[in-house]
Amino acid sequence: MNLSMKNLPDKTVERLSQYRRSLNNQLAKGKTHIFSHEIANLLHITPVQVRRDIMLIGYSGTLRKGYDIKEMVVLIGKIIDTDEGIKIAVIGMGNLGKAFIHYMYEKRTKLKIVAAFDINPDKIDKSYEDVYCYHLDRLEEIINEMGITVAIITTPPEVASPMADRLKEAGITGILNYTPRALSPREGVYLEEHDMITSLEKVSYFVKLRD
Ligand code: ATP
Repeated sequence: MNLSMKNLPDKTVERLSQYRRSLNNQLAKGKTHIFSHEIANLLHITPVQVRRDIMLIGYSGTLRKGYDIKEMVVLIGKIIDTDEGIKIAVIGMGNLGKAFIHYMYEKRTKLKIVAAFDINPDKIDKSYEDVYCYHLDRLEEIINEMGITVAIITTPPEVASPMADRLKEAGITGILNYTPRALSPREGVYLEEHDMITSLEKVSYFVKLRD
């Protein structure tokens, strides 16, 4: 991977992941080539956006046939995957934590949830869909031992901030915060926040406006 690829805008990286999923669906349907406007239609974005992203990763198609889907899937994989895959921990094995584990279970992706952590004795030392739940006391040890680099926080919100500090200290470099408590950035840690309630309230607000 060259340096410029390392610094792709995060929205581009997000779209590359979406392109790859759509392209794989197209491959499964027997299609071999695709034009930017077709990708744009599938993802409800503009063809200009698609072409700009694809140029950024240094790919070009042919005018007549468009992009070679297989080649593009491989190239996107080279950019956004790592050879060994990424190991992920779920912090807080409640409904949301379990939903993540369930969703990722048996998905052939390089992203692997390999451990969960909790403080509730009912959850600890049990596996949920092959993911073992450890006591939080073992967080640093297990992260280190397994080489976990990403954590998804699905604890109650008040736990999120101290947990992010602890995760950083333990060597985690990517956090997906799924609690409604916004976190301040921590140096050296890529932070992504996803508050379901805010998203839903936003949708409801616009629905209300239309009524
Ligand atoms: P459940 O009712 O099964 O606990 P829930 O989703 O309603 O599920 P929450 O109160 O949202 O539970 O908590 C999510 C999970 O986070 C729970 O499993 C809880 O035990 C766990 N949890 C709470 N505090 C911590 C903590 N400090 N560290 C790790 N996990 C925690």
